[in-house]
Amino acid sequence: MSNADFADGDHFSAAAVSPAADLQDVSINCIDCSKDFLWSAGEQAFFRDKRLENPPKRCKECKKAKNERLAAIATAQQSGVKQRIEVIVSCAKCGESTTVPFYPSQGRPVYCRSCFLELNPSILNGNQPES
Ligand SMILES: [Zn+2]
Ligand SMILES: [Zn+2]
Repeated sequence: MSNADFADGDHFSAAAVSPAADLQDVSINCIDCSKDFLWSAGEQAFFRDKRLENPPKRCKECKKAKNERLAAIATAQQSGVKQRIEVIVSCAKCGESTTVPFYPSQGRPVYCRSCFLELNPSILNGNQPES
């Protein structure tokens, strides 16, 4: 009797933990390098497990590169050394190449200095120290 019970229970629990059968590998376009990468069902299950709502935006390499950038910045901040960052971007208004002292986030326009000041004239009157 106990044998049959055990077998039943075993079968039942095995069905209950069937691994994320509703998930399928998804192809996502990386916002950094614009290449498609695979978001596997296993990773989706992991995200769901962690209650992360937003799917990844970057492929593994870009994510790693981003983490390294952030880590470098964090290290510089901890050591008190001011890190000078220069990222080359093109101005969203006039299209000129310009360098900015930060890593622009995707989807947010970046302007060259003159366009930026044009759009934010109050900064000229503010206490933004000139470097
Ligand atoms: Zn990428
Ligand atoms: Zn500009």
